Amino acid sequence: MGEFQVRKDWLAFCLPDISEAEVEAVGAAVRSGWWAKGPRTMEFEKQFAAYVGAKHCIGLNSCTAALHLALLTQGIGPGDEVITTPLTFASTANTILHVGATPVFADIDPDTGLIDPDEIEKKVTPRTRAVVPVHYSGLAADLGRIGEICDAHGLFLSEDAAHAVETRYNGELIGHHPRGAVSYSFYATKNLACGEGGALITDDDEIAARARVLSCHGMSAGAWNRYGKGGSWRYDIEEPGYKYNMFDIQAALALTQLARMDDMQRRRFEAVQVYEEAFAGVPELRLQKTPAYCHHSRHLYILRIVPERLSISRDQFIEELKARNVGVSVHFIALHTMSAYVGRFGYRSEDFPRAYAFSESEISLPLYSALGRENAAYVAEAVLDIVKKYRK
Ligand SMILES: *Cc1c(COP(=O)(O)O)cnc(C)c1O
Repeated sequence: MGEFQVRKDWLAFCLPDISEAEVEAVGAAVRSGWWAKGPRTMEFEKQFAAYVGAKHCIGLNSCTAALHLALLTQGIGPGDEVITTPLTFASTANTILHVGATPVFADIDPDTGLIDPDEIEKKVTPRTRAVVPVHYSGLAADLGRIGEICDAHGLFLSEDAAHAVETRYNGELIGHHPRGAVSYSFYATKNLACGEGGALITDDDEIAARARVLSCHGMSAGAWNRYGKGGSWRYDIEEPGYKYNMFDIQAALALTQLARMDDMQRRRFEAVQVYEEAFAGVPELRLQKTPAYCHHSRHLYILRIVPERLSISRDQFIEELKARNVGVSVHFIALHTMSAYVGRFGYRSEDFPRAYAFSESEISLPLYSALGRENAAYVAEAVLDIVKKYRK
């Protein structure tokens, strides 16, 4: 291999995959004059439910909203405990605090970054009401074991599927006939993106009905159409709800991306293949393992450095990548180390040692459908160049 050449332009960590179809769909939604929640949102709900194979889909403005609603439908609140992972984005646990309950962290499996069912079991108390596993990076959490724990203790299962569009557990898509509620994100960086957006999936009629009402101010069903000819001006507020619904311009983007999923996923996998081939057998790098039961959606490419084998820290490794014009990120800064959680619960970093060690050695490499093999090959070369320069 020749000398490494730094590219001229910055390679972004993540970019949306924009085709003419997205531009046309948004244009058509704008021209239709129906800008708020309407026919496109309902079409997306129908198509997304059919795609994952679930009875109900409620289109929302974020995954955070979906996670919040899932807990609200169960009446979870003050005095209750909800078990989740510290290796996640803030919303997963913030929403537990939003309902007034207490998030209880269970440590992860160091090979995958997924919540460890044995750790969940240790954290169950008489106050535990629910478990919120995260399908971290696009791997599936161990739903079989977690489901058994939920059964044994009468707990609600609320899956954080923000990374899990296209993830499969035992061959079935996440969200396929779920036992509780499943929350998706369509945030700009996610596998299926519409800028901001989310959905709640469930097979349970009561959960669906309650979440739908709560997602739109607590208005009685059908009130979204109160300005249409077939609609009625009369509505009731059944309880003080939230303003969480998806709207049609979002839905136009989401529908287009859903139709393009196969092609977009194929290109994600091409990039992953470049990384996996380049990093195989490099002792300074530790690759994520995929459990046998699981099909990885490849939302994130998780790379970990082996700190003992390098003369630079993870943070310096990131600086070296930046100097080579590669944008990277970290998923996640362990949530129990964040001020809001330290302040409230007095956590120390070592309280969840595996999540902390994982978080401190992790680097997320660029992975998106618009990345392309050549850019992935450049990133891989940059990583290997840094390893070569700083290996002990
Ligand atoms: C992105 C993300 C969320 C939040 O999604 P929003 O749609 O932005 O609310 C929740 N959980 C995880 C694990 C995420 O990565």
